Amino acid sequence: KKIECVEISNSDEAEKKSEDSDKPNPADASLLAKIIRKGLVENKNDIEVQRKDPRSPLYSIKSFEALNLDPNLLKGVYEMGFNAPSKIQETALPALLADPPQNLIAQSQSGTGKTAAFVLAMLSRVDVTKKYPQVLCLSPTYELAIQTGEVAAHMAKFCPEIEMKYAVSGEVVPRNTHLTEHIIIGTPGKVLDWAVKFRVFDLKKLCAFVLDEADVMISMQGHQDQCIRIHKNLNAATCQMMFFSATYDQQVMDFAELIVKNPIIIRLKREEESLDNIRQYYVRCNNPDEKYTAITNIYGTVGIGQAIIFCHTRRTAAWLSEKMSKDGHAVAVLSGDLTVEQRISVLDRFREGKEKVLITTNVLSRGIDVEQVTIVVNFDLPIDMNGKADCETYLHRIGRTGRFGKSGIAINLVDSEKSMGVCKAIEQHFDRKIHLLDTDDSDEIE
Ligand code: ADP
Repeated sequence: KKIECVEISNSDEAEKKSEDSDKPNPADASLLAKIIRKGLVENKNDIEVQRKDPRSPLYSIKSFEALNLDPNLLKGVYEMGFNAPSKIQETALPALLADPPQNLIAQSQSGTGKTAAFVLAMLSRVDVTKKYPQVLCLSPTYELAIQTGEVAAHMAKFCPEIEMKYAVSGEVVPRNTHLTEHIIIGTPGKVLDWAVKFRVFDLKKLCAFVLDEADVMISMQGHQDQCIRIHKNLNAATCQMMFFSATYDQQVMDFAELIVKNPIIIRLKREEESLDNIRQYYVRCNNPDEKYTAITNIYGTVGIGQAIIFCHTRRTAAWLSEKMSKDGHAVAVLSGDLTVEQRISVLDRFREGKEKVLITTNVLSRGIDVEQVTIVVNFDLPIDMNGKADCETYLHRIGRTGRFGKSGIAINLVDSEKSMGVCKAIEQHFDRKIHLLDTDDSDEIE
């Protein structure tokens, strides 16, 4: 859970400039997900495999022993508490560790074991007798690079001779030096500087190249071009290319095609959230004060479990939390003006049950995995930029995947004809009834 944030990254600056309403920032969202995650994300879907070159063999393994790893690396894997490969690792690892090496594009949601897979491949590719960088991993931000480095350090615990260096802001190397570390983990700008401008290491000598978080990468100004410039300086004939993304859309795949020739493409589709087992209600309110009353009535009945309240803007979230706190309720607020560290601490406290209510904006639209959350309240219904129902966000807020098959309650506060329209649109979209609830009648909620 350790996280070092010594300086403000581009993503933070972008967020500071953003409006009062919070849009999830891909780099921060990914970092937060990594830090608060406890283990593998379960996924019952099947792996999909695509091969451009049918001659490339394809295996799948059920144990780490089957990979013929260096014994000290295997020890490191077990030391991390991994007993068996995750679903994506079963197919990715044999391809990544094959001889001759195979290029790979892998897509699966955050938490399915991609990082562990490519870190193992990176460590396996190192020849410690050669004192120069052989493996390069590009991450979109400083913080994400550090996270990957920490996984690598952990896994390499019994391979102390493997050396790593971060190419991130704040790191300096004197000119005319030649790096002797085996593995470089860095951000595109810094890597370009080091490799192309100052030539402190030779990209042509790399035998493995990892591009991680490709979808976050392309969301950041200039990163994609920098990655492509780095890639152009690699020796495509001798360097294994590995490309990872949590999402799979055309833009990401176009980027992948530029970076990875003759790849094996593996995909694990996200397990869909559903509204099954969720009882959905709406409450008619005429103004914010009535919404507040509705909330306190609901709050009064949340005996066991916890509630999350979604507001459209930071201002509303702040207003609501102040009002509730004044009335003696223990509430936590999570909004985009908090640093990643602050967000983690808010979520940790909430998870421990120190607060029963979490008020948030859209920074938290997906997957907080707080199992004990039984009630989700939309103080404001989710709408897109055109003011239309944002059904996708609604599903992320309310829906559950298979692993939390528990039942839940969703309550939508409707304060105008317009929001009634949004509510109806959501009801129609999912073809699931949203019932009218009278919050003065607490029997109905229980
Ligand atoms: P991703 O890169 O897809 O987000 P990670 O590699 O970070 O996924 O893995 C998610 C979590 O699962 C991490 O906490 C990691 O330590 C753990 N993990 C990864 N592979 C395994 C495995 N084979 N067995 C158990 N836990 C694993």
